[in-house]
Amino acid sequence: MRIQPWNLVFLVGFVVHLAIRYEFARRTRGNEKAVRRVGPDRILIALVGIGSLLLPILYLFTPWLTFADYRLPAPAPWFGAAAMGFALWLFWRSHADLGRNWSVTLEVRKGHQLVKHGVYRLIRHPMYSAIWLFSLAQGLLLQNWLAGWSGFVLFGVMYFLRTPREERMMEEVFGQEYRDYMRQTGRIFPRLHSLRVVPAS
Ligand code: SAH
Repeated sequence: MRIQPWNLVFLVGFVVHLAIRYEFARRTRGNEKAVRRVGPDRILIALVGIGSLLLPILYLFTPWLTFADYRLPAPAPWFGAAAMGFALWLFWRSHADLGRNWSVTLEVRKGHQLVKHGVYRLIRHPMYSAIWLFSLAQGLLLQNWLAGWSGFVLFGVMYFLRTPREERMMEEVFGQEYRDYMRQTGRIFPRLHSLRVVPAS
């Protein structure tokens, strides 16, 4: 195994990321579904698993990916560690704010609530923002272009295919309420106007 401090930071971050997922998957077990969008989701999730789990594991525990090793500039992993910390916080907050409304694939459960509070007040897809950041952290921590950037590229494919379908589903279910919510929020970055503080008169 390549026991280097930055690889360990990645490993610890990865385990925390899995623990958050596991805990919220447990809490939403038994949800009854009202709408389910069957599409390429499972294939896309498997691809993201290859990029963010399988290739990093091969890099860390076998010599097979050494042909793709490279040296990052010294400050890069420090930025990676900071990005990882923020990504994990955002990943946890978005699961906590979505509560029982969270699901791995595109679904709306019976009694589904449109969440607009917490981190969802500013962005519609904070969980995807967190995964983008996590993938960036992976690239800045692992000094191998294949294990480092595969998560970023494969999550990018999933993000661009899935997000429009998710928003269409939410709009069909919540109608005007979701359209209004879309106007007030950014997809993965907050809109500048929602950050502006209105001075008290
Ligand atoms: N795209 C969101 C949620 C990902 S989980 C994010 O990045 O944070 C995917 C499920 O969350 C979808 O199937 C949908 O049912 C649900 N969902 C997405 N946005 C929601 C919202 N604002 N309120 C309630 N549920 C939401």
